[in-house]
Amino acid sequence: MTVLKKETTVLKNFINGEWIDADCNETLDVPNPATGEVIIKVPISSKEDVDKAVKSAKEAWKTWKNTPVPKRARILYKYHYLLSENHEKLAKLVVQENGKAYKEAYGEVQRGIECVEFAAGAPTLMMGESLSNIAEEIDSEMFRYPLGVVAGITPFNFPMMVPLWMFPLAIACGNTFVLKPSERTPILANELVKLFTEAGAPKGVLNIVHGAHDVVNGLLDHDDVRAISFVGSQPVAKYVYERAAAAGKRVQALSGAKNHHIVMPDADMEKAVSHIISSAYGSAGQRCMACSAVVVVGDGDEFVQTLKERADELIIGNGLDDEVLLTPIIRDSHRQKVLDYIKIGLKEGATLIRDGRKEMDEKHEGTFLGPTIFDQVTPDMTIAKEEIFAPVLSLLRAKDLEEGLEYIRKSRFGNGATIYTKDAKAVRQFREEADAGMLGINVGVPATMAFFPFSGWKDSFYGDLHVNGKDGVNFYTRKKMITSRFDY
Ligand code: NAD
Repeated sequence: MTVLKKETTVLKNFINGEWIDADCNETLDVPNPATGEVIIKVPISSKEDVDKAVKSAKEAWKTWKNTPVPKRARILYKYHYLLSENHEKLAKLVVQENGKAYKEAYGEVQRGIECVEFAAGAPTLMMGESLSNIAEEIDSEMFRYPLGVVAGITPFNFPMMVPLWMFPLAIACGNTFVLKPSERTPILANELVKLFTEAGAPKGVLNIVHGAHDVVNGLLDHDDVRAISFVGSQPVAKYVYERAAAAGKRVQALSGAKNHHIVMPDADMEKAVSHIISSAYGSAGQRCMACSAVVVVGDGDEFVQTLKERADELIIGNGLDDEVLLTPIIRDSHRQKVLDYIKIGLKEGATLIRDGRKEMDEKHEGTFLGPTIFDQVTPDMTIAKEEIFAPVLSLLRAKDLEEGLEYIRKSRFGNGATIYTKDAKAVRQFREEADAGMLGINVGVPATMAFFPFSGWKDSFYGDLHVNGKDGVNFYTRKKMITSRFDY
């Protein structure tokens, strides 16, 4: 498949409706993680590039904020149509730059399209409130207004879905946008903007600046950027939250995760294993909702044996191959960190019951690691506490549900958690007491859809209003109250 033109060697930024070269000399290679082949180069843009993009967004906002809401929504309807028409092409691009399996990429594109679907409801979503007669002949009304220029900074693992969590809703609410995609998966962002322009978005409404830290800092410090939406790893999320908040901006910073799945003795073991395998090893464990810790309640030896057998059967390879579930890790530098975690797990006394290192590079040129399972992990071990973001699963043993819930409470992260059981009482206790924002009941990846907030807790989220749903609308708008007297 040739999605990219051969002569295009360095990606361009998109500013004020034009594709322009970044004002920088530095570029990074963007390899296909499954083959190592360099697909394109990404520019490491400068603060000057950020300035140009923000200036263009600020200028565009003067008109865009007054563009009638239904007219803005119509552009999103068209965008929805164009994205759906290009569904397969977009999914293939995701596979090419991120490495995940085509089926997963296809699902990701669908999830992104659903965000556009939601944002197209802007005329309803942006409605205010009113009450007549709050006092004699006095009425009160609330209107929503956009903030101005807002920015989005996104991670490598969902190059389609995460940008679409942000800019369609922000723009539908009347803001203009500057997107800084991950420098490790920057290609799809340019396709998204091409289609958005084709859908009728005026120049300057959506801008892209490729790059890394300097672009992020440029956005965090810029006086004309009113709000920051960030998704990425925990240390960076905290840094972004603190620096942007100190500069007086609204911030929503979605962060890392350690998602526990509790397997109760009465669970349907075949189904639980199958959900855990696809949650832990799909996208090579590089999902913020991936299962990375299983809490086995009671004597779970049969469950553990079946899990290991299924892991042994997993097909590893290029995501374009239909059979493949376990795809590559994004970069070798990340794989090296994962290998260090495996050594730490062994040193701290966990039992390595399946060693994925044996599948590294024997048959593959890409950055692969086979399914890895540690048993007898305790909550105080490094591999239980930290996000590894790879196909490495930790099994913790618990005597009962209460102890399993305690493990979840102890975790600094609180993105998601799941229970596998048929027991209604256990389900209710889990729902009430599990200390995480997105729970699954017999569901392997309980990621929410666009009309609900994506709702991590604790160190998995910094801020107040989450992305998507009504939270997203509140984040991207400010309210104005009017109190009117009529006995004048
Ligand atoms: P990352 O933190 O390395 O990068 C995210 C963004 O921050 C990128 O655009 C990158 O250029 C920028 N960045 C990185 N380091 C920076 C620094 N020191 N200063 C300024 N900017 C910096 O994250 P990643 O590896 O691309 O993505 C994976 C992480 O994202 C995982 O931790 C995963 O759990 C998390 N994630 C969370 C959610 C969620 O909903 N909570 C969703 C997807 C991914």
